[in-house]
Amino acid sequence: MRLHVADHPLITHKLTVLRDARTSSPVFRQLTEELVTLLAYEATRNVRVSPVEIETPVTRTTGVKIGEPRPIVVPILRAGLGMLEAVTELFPEVAVGYIGLERDEASLEPQSYYRKLPPVAGRHVLVLDPMLATGGSGSAATSAVKEGGPASIRFVCVVAAPEGIRKMEADHPDVPIFTAAIDRQLNERGYIVPGLGDFGDRLFGTE
Ligand code: URA
Repeated sequence: MRLHVADHPLITHKLTVLRDARTSSPVFRQLTEELVTLLAYEATRNVRVSPVEIETPVTRTTGVKIGEPRPIVVPILRAGLGMLEAVTELFPEVAVGYIGLERDEASLEPQSYYRKLPPVAGRHVLVLDPMLATGGSGSAATSAVKEGGPASIRFVCVVAAPEGIRKMEADHPDVPIFTAAIDRQLNERGYIVPGLGDFGDRLFGTE
């Protein structure tokens, strides 16, 4: 499995502010969008393009445009929603699917409560979930997308724990992970350490 850690100083700077417990929800949302824009840039290097002929003010030349079929982006509800806008800003033509998974706080296993995906056969899919913790949700969402026969899946998160990386590696060795950081471990409550707390709560101000 390929693991890409985007350690550009702009990314690590923004991540540090996200980690800071004093960062307010509005700033957290804004920085998430900025950071995910940079991550998505890395994760979409393989996006399909087709040649186009254009006229510059000086001469005729060949450029490229994002090709068909349109890529698909699938945020895992709810925290993945905070990553969506960054991708749709970069690729206004993406199709968006949703997978709703929540963690059972006792078993830490993912429970599915919603799934709405466009046709994924033969298409490139980005799955978004900010915190790759146990890997349960990421793996379950990836399996759900695979049922549709996509051309490829890439998993994009903000922070990954070694436990989650191992789970994804075991279940989906064909799915590359793009992250801003690999943290130390999970604690007994399933939180990533040092992490940044509950991403959804901090994003939506529901702490
Ligand atoms: N989900 C979160 O929001 N934070 C963690 O640390 C782990 C899972």
